[in-house]
Amino acid sequence: MVTKRPRIVIVGAGMAGLTAAHRLRTVAGDLIDLTVLEAGDRLGGRILSSCFAGDRIEMGATWIHGIDGSPVHAIAADIGALSAADSVPYERMDGFPVDPVTVAEGGGVVEPSVVDSVSLFYKSLMDSAREGKVPVTADNNSVGSFLRSGKGALAADGSGDWTLDAVFAVSENTERTYTSADDLDDLDLAAESEYKEFGGDQITIADGYSRVIEHLASALPEGSIRMNAKVREIEWCRVDGGEGPVRVHVDGGGREGEEVVVADHVIVTVSLGVLKAGLRKDADAGSVMRFSPGLPGFKREAIGRLGFGVVDKLFMETDGGEEFPHLQLAFRPEGHVGKIPRWMRRTASICPIYGGSRVVLAWLAGEEAAEMEELEDGDVIGGVHATLEAFRVGRRVLRVRRSGWRRNPLFLGSYSYVALGSSGEDLDLMAEPLPRGGETTMQLLFAGEATHRTHYSTTHGAYFSGKREANRLLQYYRCCSGNNNNTSNGCC
Ligand SMILES: Cc1cc2nc3c(=O)[nH]c(=O)nc-3n(C[C@H](O)[C@H](O)[C@H](O)COP(=O)(O)OP(=O)(O)OC[C@H]3O[C@@H](n4cnc5c(N)ncnc54)[C@H](O)[C@@H]3O)c2cc1C
Repeated sequence: MVTKRPRIVIVGAGMAGLTAAHRLRTVAGDLIDLTVLEAGDRLGGRILSSCFAGDRIEMGATWIHGIDGSPVHAIAADIGALSAADSVPYERMDGFPVDPVTVAEGGGVVEPSVVDSVSLFYKSLMDSAREGKVPVTADNNSVGSFLRSGKGALAADGSGDWTLDAVFAVSENTERTYTSADDLDDLDLAAESEYKEFGGDQITIADGYSRVIEHLASALPEGSIRMNAKVREIEWCRVDGGEGPVRVHVDGGGREGEEVVVADHVIVTVSLGVLKAGLRKDADAGSVMRFSPGLPGFKREAIGRLGFGVVDKLFMETDGGEEFPHLQLAFRPEGHVGKIPRWMRRTASICPIYGGSRVVLAWLAGEEAAEMEELEDGDVIGGVHATLEAFRVGRRVLRVRRSGWRRNPLFLGSYSYVALGSSGEDLDLMAEPLPRGGETTMQLLFAGEATHRTHYSTTHGAYFSGKREANRLLQYYRCCSGNNNNTSNGCC
């Protein structure tokens, strides 16, 4: 008797998709028919290690946020990626940057004792929010409003000088890059206490973050990952029986024109930005991924409510000379007119990527990052020079390399956050398989960082989500319990 293997299609070969594929393959082996469809021409999605001016850099994910309990750290350690296979210096090989020099616009160095006390004050405010000690009310429900009310205490204690506010804004601007929220008024305060971090050191991966991705992909049989295969539409809930309940319409993938891949289950791992674009009625049909029938209301609403912001990295090769400082930028208050372009005015710092490197890095978030993405390199360099001059830093930038996550149609942004009006429950709704309940469940499964309630926005959140969805299917076919009752595809 010929028995059919369950056909599982994974959309996206980033951390979530490849983790799911790796898990399914290593547990179920040839008992499943596995295909990964990736629209881009490389693996890794928002993980992309690269080189610039002789240094190894990360265009996307950079840090292992706490090594204790991190699966990404465990993999990187297992495969020996925590030490470099070559002698290329890498981003933050000397750990977190310390000893910043904080300069106020105009060139005055702010006393380190002032900077320390403001930074500690900011940290104590955010710690209390993260520990859930802050009452959330209708007037005090966003991180922005909470910080504004907390900052009142700082002004009362301080000298009234604008630099105190400007130093406080350095921390706020850093928060924007941590969370991707353009406006901290849009960042839900209650959700802060749900977000979890691992303990232990925060480190970067010496051999490049992409090594973790290569390792996951290496477990898959040749031909199971199809590159340049853009999913245009996923038809699910098909009732005409025959081929299977889900049909995935793919452009490219090494074949001419459109192709249809039939599946029993599809794990969707595209970014929240891509899912949001697919809901827009005015979107150009050729550029987005659609579901047919459309996603149910509860899923559409969760996608709509959650936040998905922009964070970009701007690497700059500087001219030689003295070591570039770890420069924190305390800008004059809004409304001040100067030569600094608008898109630089909420940059928290410019810092060498390790002590002594000629490559310096600025993280940009929100509208500023989006604006920077649209500029020519020459305009970016001009804007950075104007900024350095305003802070009396006599250094020149020779060339730049920057990410463009918002412009890239395969991402349309950087990572997710719990926006005001959404909640952790929306992250759970994101993870719910479809159709909901009934006999035909689990046609569509959802993984990706934006589907993890407590570790969203991170690589380990993406990892956990991929494993979760693989396990869901393995349990469905009883692979996990060792009872491989998976010789039929009559699941749906
Ligand atoms: C600038 C930046 C810095 C970051 N820093 C950190 C950090 O320090 N630490 C950390 O833990 N995390 C960091 N992150 C977040 C981390 O990179 C992501 O959370 C994680 O990589 C997301 O993985 P994913 O698999 O969920 O999604 P993705 O990586 O987005 O994978 C989805 C895949 O789907 C593909 N795709 C999209 N549309 C289609 C389609 N129609 N058909 C087929 N395929 C499609 C995409 O090309 C992509 O490969 C950072 C991200 C950015 C952008």
